[in-house]
Amino acid sequence: MPCFGDKKRVVIKVGSSTLAYPQTGSLNIRKSRALVEVLADLKNSGKEIVFVTSGAQAVGAAKCGFREKPRDIPSKQACAAIGQSELMKFYSECFEQYNHKVAQLLLTRDVISNATRRTNVINTFNRLFELSVVPIINANDVVSIKQLDFDENDTLSAIVATLCEADLLVMLTDVDGLYDGDPSKEGSKLISKVDKINMDIISLAKGAGSALGSGGMLTKIEAAQIATEAGIDTVIIGNRDPKLLYELFETDCARCTWFKAEH
Ligand code: GLU
Repeated sequence: MPCFGDKKRVVIKVGSSTLAYPQTGSLNIRKSRALVEVLADLKNSGKEIVFVTSGAQAVGAAKCGFREKPRDIPSKQACAAIGQSELMKFYSECFEQYNHKVAQLLLTRDVISNATRRTNVINTFNRLFELSVVPIINANDVVSIKQLDFDENDTLSAIVATLCEADLLVMLTDVDGLYDGDPSKEGSKLISKVDKINMDIISLAKGAGSALGSGGMLTKIEAAQIATEAGIDTVIIGNRDPKLLYELFETDCARCTWFKAEH
């Protein structure tokens, strides 16, 4: 495992199961605050941070008093609209404590297929980097519907990493990385390095996501494939303690899975 200290532009993706309490869907203030503190500090160390956040639907559903994330599309869209503004208010205030400015970018999949939109997003990213602002990204769940667009943010984070020509993509999740078996079973080992994502690797990644999130290990591997094929090193790391992110940049022994960039 290399030390990633020399990586400057870093995309960090955090899912609903990290940001919200599974029992209620409400924001986990302690963890989210701790995460923002680490991101702000990494930015202070000279890195350009791009933050891909989920949690809009979960937080919006909790605010509406729903016991779980709704399944019908209009309710999902409404919850995303309600939760997204909550999230941004929180992030904006937290980053502000460390004197950092944030910007909200809500993306749909046509940023890949539509050349004009793609250029517009890239130009926005570049200007935000010049202005030293932290771009905060989510899918635009209000205008997108499941079958057509980003249903989870793993793929979105890989697309974002390619659009802003990131040096590193980091996805946080509730396990330490990719295991060679069921991570909850004794004897399963963490795979620390993947040179090439092939069918063997994909078959290890089976299994559904959490109750709150929409992705799982499979969507993370697919995201890693998009990013590594674009030449971007990718890491899957545990979400237990946001301070673990420091180990990626300060040591060569972070507990995680590193997917090596292809070129
Ligand atoms: N855009 C969705 C949200 O913010 C992502 C859902 C997820 O991946 O958990 O709720």
